[in-house]
Amino acid sequence: MSALIALTKGKCPQCRKGKVFKNKATNLKKFKDMHENCPSCGVKFESEPGFFWGAMYFSYAYSVASFIIIGFFFFTFSDDVNLTYYILSVVAFTLLTSPISFRMSRLLMMYIAAPYRKYQKQNS
Ligand SMILES: [Zn+2]
Repeated sequence: MSALIALTKGKCPQCRKGKVFKNKATNLKKFKDMHENCPSCGVKFESEPGFFWGAMYFSYAYSVASFIIIGFFFFTFSDDVNLTYYILSVVAFTLLTSPISFRMSRLLMMYIAAPYRKYQKQNS
């Protein structure tokens, strides 16, 4: 399985077989529950305390991208943009897609850090 497919399916960055999250993204109460270790290979997902703080940057980038993309549609298809509708649309979109954003941010963080974690594993 390629890294991109494994990432979109929420699989472990090391073995690409085990699931990272316990529940589906549509489970709004428990979408953020993660396995502590990979069910398949046993690698610890949170390699160090605060590892997932870095995922906030991806989440932030996603929110800014939403703001720009929705703004692009508002300002190209309307001559008189109502800023309240624009901001409400961005807020609604960001809230509705927050489970996906949350999960993708954490997965991206793990996939980007995966090569360095292998390096750490060999030296310890
Ligand atoms: Zn694994």
